[in-house]
Amino acid sequence: MSRYVDPVCSVCRREGTKLFLKGDKCYTKCVFDHRAVAPGQHGGRRRSKPSEYSKRLREKQLAKRMVGITERQFRRYFRAASRSAGQTGATLLRLLETRLDHVVRRMGFTTSQAHARQLITHGHVFLNQRRVTIPSHAVRPGDEVRLSEKLSANAQVQQAQAAAAKREVRPSWLEVDAQQGVGRVKAWPRREEMSFPVNEQLIVELYSK
Ligand code: SF4
Repeated sequence: MSRYVDPVCSVCRREGTKLFLKGDKCYTKCVFDHRAVAPGQHGGRRRSKPSEYSKRLREKQLAKRMVGITERQFRRYFRAASRSAGQTGATLLRLLETRLDHVVRRMGFTTSQAHARQLITHGHVFLNQRRVTIPSHAVRPGDEVRLSEKLSANAQVQQAQAAAAKREVRPSWLEVDAQQGVGRVKAWPRREEMSFPVNEQLIVELYSK
């Protein structure tokens, strides 16, 4: 499995927005707060007006980087979304939003998606009583996500839950019992509750050329 191993703060700087890829550090010691320019030698230069293509590309890159997946994986999601009934853009975002690693983070069990991915691959997450080690596993309404007993008592996980409860309003499509380390997917997420600040129509236009 290929994965991004370069500094993640450069990704935020490239996209020109905070993507919260580092968990707690993003709230306390964020590079973007004092160096909000693109990375590289010429990052601080004034940029020319972006072309239509560039606008669409940036929207796609933003969504892809927020989830931390490769171009090939993102395209696979797009193909699945375009084959399904309903609006392609909305379905694409729903597929990304309901990945298991994303749901674990949104439930507040971790402060970053990378940490959620690590918990899953190390076998600490159970979906409907079954251990699942694939971060991209899709969840659906009615599914129960549970942390292993050992992990529910883990100090880092408890801190993450306390921080999430303070910072974020939990989305209404998720129900969480932080004490027990268990959550349930109540419904499909509505667009306004998804965590992607992108214009999905531009992504559809980029791939439809
Ligand atoms: Fe992005 Fe977090 Fe790095 Fe800030 S600290 S630039 S939000 S990854």
